[in-house]
Amino acid sequence: YHAKTAGGNTYSLHDVRGAVDDGTLPMETELRRALERGQLRLEYQPQVATRNGALVGVEALLRWQHPHFGEVSPEQFIPVAEAAGLIGSIGEWVLHSACRQLAAWDDQGVSIASMGVNLSPRQLRDPAIVDKVRAALTASGIAAARLELEVTESEMLFQLDADRYKLAALRDLGVKIAIDDFGSGYSSLGRLLQLKIDRLKLDRCFVLELEPQGDTRAGAITAAILSLGEALGVELVVEGVETEAQFELLSRQGFQVIQGYLTGRPMSPAAVAQRFTEFAGRSEAGCVHG
Ligand code: C2E
Ligand code: MG
Ligand code: MG
Ligand code: MG
Repeated sequence: YHAKTAGGNTYSLHDVRGAVDDGTLPMETELRRALERGQLRLEYQPQVATRNGALVGVEALLRWQHPHFGEVSPEQFIPVAEAAGLIGSIGEWVLHSACRQLAAWDDQGVSIASMGVNLSPRQLRDPAIVDKVRAALTASGIAAARLELEVTESEMLFQLDADRYKLAALRDLGVKIAIDDFGSGYSSLGRLLQLKIDRLKLDRCFVLELEPQGDTRAGAITAAILSLGEALGVELVVEGVETEAQFELLSRQGFQVIQGYLTGRPMSPAAVAQRFTEFAGRSEAGCVHG
């Protein structure tokens, strides 16, 4: 993939990837301007109740459409934003946009119970993060309990007392805290004891290995995490559910909320509204039981 800019510079996908490693041009420069140029937007992925298919929440996922790079994955540009010191302003925009969208749906009669927003480790360490979250809630009029901040376990995160205090301070605002990608990377069950959290989002690596018979090792792990969550009073969401077989198995095991391509890819606000309205229509017609 090659594209020419008006200035005659040639960018390639390789440059985009390379920028992640050396933290320089061109992605960093372009990302700096992405906000003001309106190249960033949010998509929303449904979180669905296994019981009846109801839309119980959404996760906001950041998208960057660049005129030459095309659609750049957040897996690529979030690390660049972090390294370049841009995650603060981008993250603030995400918080405000997501809360504003939730309020806009409310106005349309589309009542989505909760909105998940991802926070990177850098953002959590921002001394102003509590104020920024509070400001987004105030500006949109959204009740704190409807906002769920997703933090991913990483090597550094939660090792420091400061991180735990910060999470506690956020939780004191009334927002929910979720551990994202739980069970992958640097998860530690010991940390779980020290943290006050509301939800675990089970990493999709377990789901990938699930088999329909339900007697696999992966199935044993999902079942164990389910009972762990229940014992700790923590809600669970399973990420990355792609097939009916996975859905059936997880549902049978007792998982109540799932998120994955099977029940909806990340989509536009209008598509979420349509999904919500369709479901409401079916419920009224008596087609949904439970
Ligand atoms: P995440 O928070 O764990 O988000 C879930 C990712 O899995 C999303 O990728 C989603 O599109 C993808 N996914 C959902 N269901 C399925 C499925 O059934 N199968 C497969 N294969 N994938 C599925 P996405 O949107 O590319 O985001 C990647 C990561 O980028 C996110 O992982 C999150 O860590 C980060 N990210 C996204 N938006 C933001 C943001 O606004 N702020 C920050 N700090 N990070 C963000
Ligand atoms: Mg997430
Ligand atoms: Mg995740
Ligand atoms: Mg992830």
